[in-house]
Amino acid sequence: MIIKKGISASPGVAIGPAFVLDTEDYRIPRRTVEPSQAPEQLRILDAALEASRQELAELRVATARRLGEQAAMIFAFHEAFIAEPGLRRAIVQLIERQHYTAAFAFSNEMNRRQREFRAVADAYLKERVKDLQDVERRVLRNILGRAREDITRLTQPVIIVAHDLTPSQAVSIDRAHVLGFALNVGGQTSHVALIAKLRGIPAVVALNDITSDVTGGELLVLDGSHGIVVCDPDDANVERYRESQAEHRRQEIHLKQFRGLPSVTRDDVRVTLHANIELPEEVDAAIEAGAEGVGLYRSEFLFLAATRPPTEDEQYEAFLDAVKRVKGAPIVIRTIDLGADKISAAVGPSRDPNPDLGLRSLRYCLQHLDLFKQHLRAILRASAAGDVRIMFPMVTTLMELRQAKATVADVMEDLEEDGIAFRHDVPIGMMIETPAAALLSESFAREAAFFSIGTNDLTEYTLAVDRANERVAHLYAPHNPAVLRLLRMIIDSGAAAGVPVSLCGEMAGSPLYCKMLVGMGLRQLSMAPQDIPEIKRVIRSTTLPDCQEIARRALGFDNDRELLNYLRDVTREDDPERL
Ligand code: PEP
Ligand code: MG
Repeated sequence: MIIKKGISASPGVAIGPAFVLDTEDYRIPRRTVEPSQAPEQLRILDAALEASRQELAELRVATARRLGEQAAMIFAFHEAFIAEPGLRRAIVQLIERQHYTAAFAFSNEMNRRQREFRAVADAYLKERVKDLQDVERRVLRNILGRAREDITRLTQPVIIVAHDLTPSQAVSIDRAHVLGFALNVGGQTSHVALIAKLRGIPAVVALNDITSDVTGGELLVLDGSHGIVVCDPDDANVERYRESQAEHRRQEIHLKQFRGLPSVTRDDVRVTLHANIELPEEVDAAIEAGAEGVGLYRSEFLFLAATRPPTEDEQYEAFLDAVKRVKGAPIVIRTIDLGADKISAAVGPSRDPNPDLGLRSLRYCLQHLDLFKQHLRAILRASAAGDVRIMFPMVTTLMELRQAKATVADVMEDLEEDGIAFRHDVPIGMMIETPAAALLSESFAREAAFFSIGTNDLTEYTLAVDRANERVAHLYAPHNPAVLRLLRMIIDSGAAAGVPVSLCGEMAGSPLYCKMLVGMGLRQLSMAPQDIPEIKRVIRSTTLPDCQEIARRALGFDNDRELLNYLRDVTREDDPERL
């Protein structure tokens, strides 16, 4: 039995046999043919290209239906890539002049293109390499007539074990037969993690070398909530996880009853629960789960799946769709937060040797004002239809906040001149996710309409720990006393200035931290929709003095391990069956 610790990417427990994806390229049986067989190879090539094109068109339509137009654009890119005449021309030359087989010629040309992309050492192009590999596998499968990696036609439920999954693999899997994903690489915000969450598939990423530790058919336990995979578990472990799987399901049913109930403590203190969303259609699930609005709309997802920047109208349509779906409730649209591991094929930061500290997020927008203004225009136009609020990510200096607000003012003037409706008093707030912004929160509170604490990044930057790097994952702790002291500072600055403070990092959705955060003074939390019922349950079970006592004691620790043990004890007392 081996226990592997990765990063939790999508919650839930899965138990089942491993299906290890072959990470090797297709083995090509023959490299050359007699010159007289060239026409036959050309026919094979054309048939495979056409079959691949048809598959991609179907996949594009199905993805658009299931996950929206933006997600489907990735396959439009694959289609366009295959249809590009230069690609076929290069392969035909290899077949005719070098007498290569169709498979070898195609693979050769694809390798050459991938090498070109890699040579630029550009994060943006690296993401494209994955797409090229995806296209390569598809066409080779059609040439060689084998379906070794076809996970769309599984016959029994399995846990997929892979180095990584391409976007097309992740969306096209047969949900009925996939119990979970266990991947060597990736972070909480990687494509596959997001798709897994959207489709309710438990997933653990950043497991390092799980593909070499596991053989096909071996029994696995995958605990997506805690980022753990147990390989070849003993009977006791299987039993234990079966119980927690059943418990997870019981809890889901039990928690449904909290949906319609107010989010108040036993002594009547209201804690507003909002949802974090990535796509407009997620609003429905958020409201269904009991969200009172959207506290964080990660608008960059419009750009992430796209192969060209979405136009102002396309952005407007998406924002309007989300605004209409929340039906008058508040919706905080965060301006695009591209960069670090959120790399867009269409636009955005690249070429940074250290992307987390580079030209990302608001910094990028402020240097690309045309793109930023177009984005703000789309948000402001949508603001006429509801209670829209604008929020800037990754603010580090006061100057950035001022520049960003001045840009909004410019865009408002333009809209005014064009006679286009928008909400004139749209609240403009900011995320506090850099230690600099936390330390200067008193000053920021004079200029921002609201704060939302991004503990995912605040933890990363305070502790100097990459949140997607499994080798330092043990140091990544939002409950580190250093982070908590910054939270204290931000909450106090907000309270002193009358600026509402919310928290929208993953921490907000964990029952472990809920009472402490309320005790520290937070009255608004924003989280993944599926976390809302559980957090509401915790809030309805407690009182403010209880929470304040927990916060007081928590802030007394100077060691994150001891503090974690303390929070675990308190949570266990609250609900002994859960931990
Ligand atoms: C955060 O950093 O806490 C946050 C909510 O933003 P994101 O996870 O999108 O970086
Ligand atoms: Mg962030």
